[in-house]
Amino acid sequence: MQTIDDLNVAGRRVLVRTDFNVPLETLADGTRHITDDGRIRAALPTITALRDRGARVILVAHLGRPKDGPSVELSLAPISRRLGELLGSTVVLASDVSGEGAARAVGAMHDGDVVLLENVRFDARETSKDAAVRGALAVELAALADIFVSDGFGVVHREQASVTDVARLLPHAAGKLVLSEAQVFSKVLSDPDRPYVVILGGSKVSDKLGVITNLLTKVDRLLVGGGMCFTFLAAMGYNVGSSLLEVDQIETVKNLIAQAAARNVELVLPVDVVVATAFSADAEHKIVAADQIEDGWMGLDIGPNSQLLFASRITDAKTVVWNGPMGVFEMTPYAQGTRAVATAITEVNGLTVVGGGDSAAAVRLLGIDEHGFTHISTGGGASLELLEGRVLPGLAVLED
Ligand code: ADP
Ligand code: MG
Repeated sequence: MQTIDDLNVAGRRVLVRTDFNVPLETLADGTRHITDDGRIRAALPTITALRDRGARVILVAHLGRPKDGPSVELSLAPISRRLGELLGSTVVLASDVSGEGAARAVGAMHDGDVVLLENVRFDARETSKDAAVRGALAVELAALADIFVSDGFGVVHREQASVTDVARLLPHAAGKLVLSEAQVFSKVLSDPDRPYVVILGGSKVSDKLGVITNLLTKVDRLLVGGGMCFTFLAAMGYNVGSSLLEVDQIETVKNLIAQAAARNVELVLPVDVVVATAFSADAEHKIVAADQIEDGWMGLDIGPNSQLLFASRITDAKTVVWNGPMGVFEMTPYAQGTRAVATAITEVNGLTVVGGGDSAAAVRLLGIDEHGFTHISTGGGASLELLEGRVLPGLAVLED
């Protein structure tokens, strides 16, 4: 994979695909406010390196899922403002994606300038299933630049005009973010130091079945918490009350449990859980053993004994991959399991990787020091697909 260090960018127009799909809230006065600018910050090293080397940096990104073309709500205007603040210089927002507005903005650039194209998904060709349709947009994007840099890790699992098609039309390289994400996942997938511990949580087993199946061939221990653990507990024959349960996955999970045993993978499930009478922070709640969940109660977090157990299976690890919160961390009474696991990971002396949008959000919400982890992935879907062992089109295209 070529990197930006391999390219001569001075005086060149460099089109950089970034992931600026940040959460926004609309304030009372109607202005839109970025609630978490982590993804913008994650793009800064590549943008800064290119500018320092005299490139003209043209950024292409999406926000949300526009339905019918351009709209004020999904304009990248708040992002160009925030990026300008972070860079300490003007970022010009083009008035369109690849039309006259883009051509005008790019035509006026000097070396070191930064232009942000409008939300690329304002153009429906970006996400078309038809390669020829996408290709037509890619040709227009490629005409704006001399070089393409892929730095939006959150989209590299997508076959889209600004991700894959344009890479085929221009000399290309991986940006610093994509490179570091690709290197970390390649290490945990192909050459992990041991003990290798994977911790999975979150809401749905079915979302993460592919990950479990692939990782069972590689890991030493698999710890399962979060909403998905109840399908495991049900597969063990326990009552799970009104906890999240994917009945149609019970047989598959029984199979996974058997596979783990056959491969000598230590499968660790909660031994106690926090159960509540409703999915609410105010609901009556208590701690029960994992095999003592009564009807009318739902499990919303792993219990204190499970927290100790999980921490004890984490601390001596040399590689940790964590995806998915251990409980409904958004509600204080059910945040303790996620906090305990996250904290245990920060104490590990080895490579620690957090994948998954909600897990990264949990780290920030719970105020855990992000520097305590080797790597917090910026791409939820992309990181899951890598952990499933898939080849991602936006990475594969950078190999040629
Ligand atoms: P990630 O984005 O990190 O991959 P997921 O999207 O799979 O994680 O799941 C995150 C969600 O799972 C969170 O919103 C959290 O509230 C929810 N969750 C965790 N534990 C439970 C539980 N026991 N019951 C219901 N929802 C849960
Ligand atoms: Mg999620």
